[in-house]
Amino acid sequence: MTATHLGMPAFPAAAREAVRDDVLRANLRRATHTIRDKRARAVTELADWDRLRAAGKAVKDHTLRHLDHYLLRLEAAVTAAGGTVHWAADATEANRIVTELVRATGEREVVKVKSMATQEIGLNEALEAAGIAAYETDLAELIVQLGHDRPSHILVPAIHRNRAEIRDVFRTEMGRWGRPAPDGLGDDPRELAEAARLHLREKFLRAKVAVSGANFMVAETGTMVVFESEGNGRMCLTLPETLISVVGIEKVVPTFRDLEIFLQTLPRSSTAERMNPYTTMWTGLGPSKGADGDGPAAFHLVLLDNGRTDTLADEVGRQALRCIRCSACLNVCPVYERAGGHAYGSVYPGPIGAILSPQLRGTGSGIDASLPYASTLCGACYEVCPVAIDIPEVLLHLRERVAQGGPVTREGIRVRIRPARGHTAERAAMRAARLLLERPGALRAGERLLSRARRLRPRRLPGPGSAWTDSRELPRPPREPFRDWWARERGGRA
Ligand code: SF4
Repeated sequence: MTATHLGMPAFPAAAREAVRDDVLRANLRRATHTIRDKRARAVTELADWDRLRAAGKAVKDHTLRHLDHYLLRLEAAVTAAGGTVHWAADATEANRIVTELVRATGEREVVKVKSMATQEIGLNEALEAAGIAAYETDLAELIVQLGHDRPSHILVPAIHRNRAEIRDVFRTEMGRWGRPAPDGLGDDPRELAEAARLHLREKFLRAKVAVSGANFMVAETGTMVVFESEGNGRMCLTLPETLISVVGIEKVVPTFRDLEIFLQTLPRSSTAERMNPYTTMWTGLGPSKGADGDGPAAFHLVLLDNGRTDTLADEVGRQALRCIRCSACLNVCPVYERAGGHAYGSVYPGPIGAILSPQLRGTGSGIDASLPYASTLCGACYEVCPVAIDIPEVLLHLRERVAQGGPVTREGIRVRIRPARGHTAERAAMRAARLLLERPGALRAGERLLSRARRLRPRRLPGPGSAWTDSRELPRPPREPFRDWWARERGGRA
C-alpha cells in the first residue's frame, strides 16, 4: 500500500471528530440502515443462501491455496487473447507501469472505473505527478474527487455526504474539471445524476485511455469481470483505445462456472439487488482484436501483489483475501456506523479494513496498530459476510500480534516483529492473570480479598487503566466469591 494514510493518528483519535459530528452520524446511520435492511430481505429470498456462502468460501480458499497455478494460467489465457500481463510487486512498481503505459500512448488524461486497487496504490497522485489527469467516473467517486475528499465506504464512497452537500460540490467544482453544473442545480437525486451524466459524457467520448479494476478474473479463459450499477463501466471498458486494468492477485477464480456463485452473492450483499445492473466481461482483445472499432485495441493487465502474498502466508489472516468487497460488513458494524470510514486511514474502511490494512501494510504505524481494536467483536460482520470471513477471529489474531509481536512474513521473508508501543500494561496484566489462573489457591485468596475490600473499590482505575474506566463503570465485586457461594449452597457438588 502507499504511505498516503500512514501519518494518520490512531483510530480512536481519528474517529473522535466523526463521532462528534451529528450530521455525519445521521448521514451514516440513514444510509447503512437502509442498505442493511434491503440486503437482509434480498438474502432471505434465497433458500440456498448458506450453501452459496459455503461454495463461495470454498472456491476462494481453493484458489488461494493454488494461487501461483491459477495466476500463471490466467496470464497464459490473457496473453493468448491478445492482452499483455504485467506483474507489480508493490505500489511503486504498479504506478510506474501504468504511468509508462499511459505515456506511451501520448495521452495526458485517463478515465477510471471501479478500481479500489488503484486507490490503494495512490495511482491518481502518481499520474498527476507525471502530468496525467485521471477522471473518476463512478458517481460516488466523482463526488469524492470533485470535493477533494476521501472515500469512506467501499460501495458508496460518498456515503458521508448528503444531497445538499453534493449539490454544492457540483455547483462549485464541476466547472473546474470540465462541463459545469447546469444553472440552478437543485438537490433532487435525478437532477444530480443528470448533471453527473452530462459532465462525464464528454470525458467518455474524448478519452483514449481507461484504467479499471475488476471484481473477478477467470483463470481458464482470461476473462475480466466488472460489476457496476451506472453504465459508466461499459463506457470506460469499450470506448477508449487502450484499457489498463489494475487488479489484486486475489481476484482470480479458476473457472467461468465459479462466477455463478458470485453473480448471486455479490449483488445481493452489496446493493441488495437480485441481479447486477451492468456486468461487463471481456477477454483480452476479443476475436476482433479491436479491428472493427469494437472495444480497445490494446489491453494491459497489471497484477498487483502489494502485501497480498505476505498476507497469504498467515494461516489465520489469509482468509481476508477471500473478500469480494461487497461492503455488507460495513453496513452492520456499530463502530463504522459511528466513526465513519475516514478514521480507518485506508481505502478499505470498516471491519474488512480493520483486518486487511494491518496485513497489507503491516502493524508498524500508529493507525495500523490500532485498527484491530476498532471493533466491539460483536460478530455481525461474520454473520453477513458472503464468503464467511471470520473477521472477529482475525481481529483477535492481529491484536495478539500488535501486543505481543511475533513472526510475520514481509516481502516474502519471515521476520519477527516487536510488540507495538503502548501495550506494556496490557502485557503485564495478561502475565499477572496467567500467573493467577494457574494457581487456584492464590485465585481463591484474591477473590476473597476483593469481596472483603469491595467498599474500597475505586471509581476510576489509575494509569493506563483509566482509559477503560473513563467510559465504563468498574464492576463491583460480589459480597461473596462465586466458588464460596457454590460450596456453601451445593456442598461442593456439581
Ligand atoms: S469482508 Fe465479507 S462482508 Fe466485508 S466486504 Fe468483504 S466479502 Fe463483503
